[in-house]
Amino acid sequence: MDTATPLSAPDLGTQRELDPLENARLQFEEAAARLKLDSSFLQIIKEPRRATIVKLPVQMDDGTMRVFTGYRVQHSIIRGPAKGGIRYHPDVTLEEVMALAAWMTWKCAVVGIPFGGGKGGVVCDPSKMSRGELERLTRRYVADLIDVIGPESDVPAPDVNTNEQTMAWIMDTFSMHARHTVTSVVTGKPLALGGSAGRREATGRGVLFVVREAAKRIGLNLKGARVVLQGFGNVGSVAADLLSKDGALIVGASDVQGGIANPNGLDMPALLKYSAEHKTVAGFPGSSPIDGKKILELPCDILIPAALENQITHVNASRIQARIIAEGANGPTTHQADKILNKAGVLVIPDILANSGGVTVSYFEWVQDRQGLFWREQEVNERLEHIMVDAFHDVARMADEHKVSLRVAAFMLAIKRVVDVIMLRGVYA
Ligand code: NAD
Repeated sequence: MDTATPLSAPDLGTQRELDPLENARLQFEEAAARLKLDSSFLQIIKEPRRATIVKLPVQMDDGTMRVFTGYRVQHSIIRGPAKGGIRYHPDVTLEEVMALAAWMTWKCAVVGIPFGGGKGGVVCDPSKMSRGELERLTRRYVADLIDVIGPESDVPAPDVNTNEQTMAWIMDTFSMHARHTVTSVVTGKPLALGGSAGRREATGRGVLFVVREAAKRIGLNLKGARVVLQGFGNVGSVAADLLSKDGALIVGASDVQGGIANPNGLDMPALLKYSAEHKTVAGFPGSSPIDGKKILELPCDILIPAALENQITHVNASRIQARIIAEGANGPTTHQADKILNKAGVLVIPDILANSGGVTVSYFEWVQDRQGLFWREQEVNERLEHIMVDAFHDVARMADEHKVSLRVAAFMLAIKRVVDVIMLRGVYA
């Protein structure tokens, strides 16, 4: 930050509202306080157990050497290996990675899969790097973390700006050091390298499963229900496709290039084809253009933020018209905005529940790799549905019992599950 231009008081307030670590801390503290747990247990899970910083020298294509900074944070391994993605972005910070790692612990506990929480990041701009530079950076990152990651200790996955190819390089580098093939060190791999059927669609499909349960909870018929999506990438487009197959009307969608709306419903098969061809939804025939931010305020029954964090803040929360918000993205709603939505009676399915389909099928991938036995897509989807529906009802029961929102209930359930394991294990081995 430029110290010559200090932030004014409101700016400082806004900056705090948008700080992911601050949001993660507030969410944790609110839920933990309601559980009335012994504070010594909470100390164990309040902070990450391990944060590793690595400096990665990489030879660039022009022959120069650049040193990149990388992080890997393990928030908790109490319930199993740390699990969480690796993001490549110029704005990655240790604090952000710490917040994301904590959310992974709670997400895995909410769906009851035997993982803790982790996250990684490298400060870099992949849009300005060649494939060869990215490969060398990835291999260096893995080599430096060879004692940190592993199928039994910490299992990475894709996140922002990393993909199946990145995971393939990670698997290969780890295997070179192990002197044998280790597919289960990483998930989100290509199918040919031990990936799972259904993984690509898993997060959007999980959103569908929890939206169905939420709709039943408020007596909303999904047939004809109006849905708006912010973000039409992997999560948003799959959720839109599956919800429209359930009879919902997709009345608005947006991506980084702009938004589109049609109150009578967008033609989904045509939109999916259009966005695949044009790499955007903007300009889709039979729709009117709408500002990317205003999309959140369109009249609808179900809103699915599936793009970025901090999209619903104290500034626009009161203008949201949806009855259900399903958080496909991580952290799209700030703590302040959440309070406003709650007061207004909007049912928010929190990110740690709504988008947990991705990590659930990552868990299936890890299981299949370790078994060396692969499941058909139908089996993956059926198992995913059981887990998501059960998790939704576990959270809803907690919410009803304690008269709290689904978000507070999801955190309470997750923290309780982690603390129960700490107590059974006799503090922490
Ligand atoms: P993606 O890159 O496939 O898609 C992101 C979409 O958001 C794109 O359509 C992009 O154009 C849009 N977008 C970016 N900036 C925007 C802006 N300013 N306004 C409107 N749209 C914008 O990513 P994804 O995998 O679909 O992930 C989306 C969100 O879901 C992220 O927050 C991610 O962390 C979260 N998430 C993803 C998974 C997964 O399995 N893919 C799992 C859990 C959570």
